[in-house]
Amino acid sequence: MSAWNFIQNIRDNFKRKEPLSDEVVEGFLRVLEKIRTEDVTCKEVFEQLDQYVEKEVDGRDAARLMPLLREHLDMCSDCCDEYEALLEVIEKSTDI
Ligand SMILES: [Zn+2]
Repeated sequence: MSAWNFIQNIRDNFKRKEPLSDEVVEGFLRVLEKIRTEDVTCKEVFEQLDQYVEKEVDGRDAARLMPLLREHLDMCSDCCDEYEALLEVIEKSTDI
């Protein structure tokens, strides 16, 4: 089933109450498209990297709590370098 058909089905289910406009449907489609194609951007990773590293340093399962971020780190060497640098800084500061 294509994403478009999926949305159309959702829209049909809502028809008895209040029909969704094409704009709303297209908005859903854009969200689905974003999830499927982009995953997480480097900007989003940079914004959340400190949270991720803090969880990891706390001994919590950061990879399970933030799986998309973990996945991005595995694929993106830029973000991975940043992650390792940050991890080193935080580990050193907690050792004191
Ligand atoms: Zn990246």
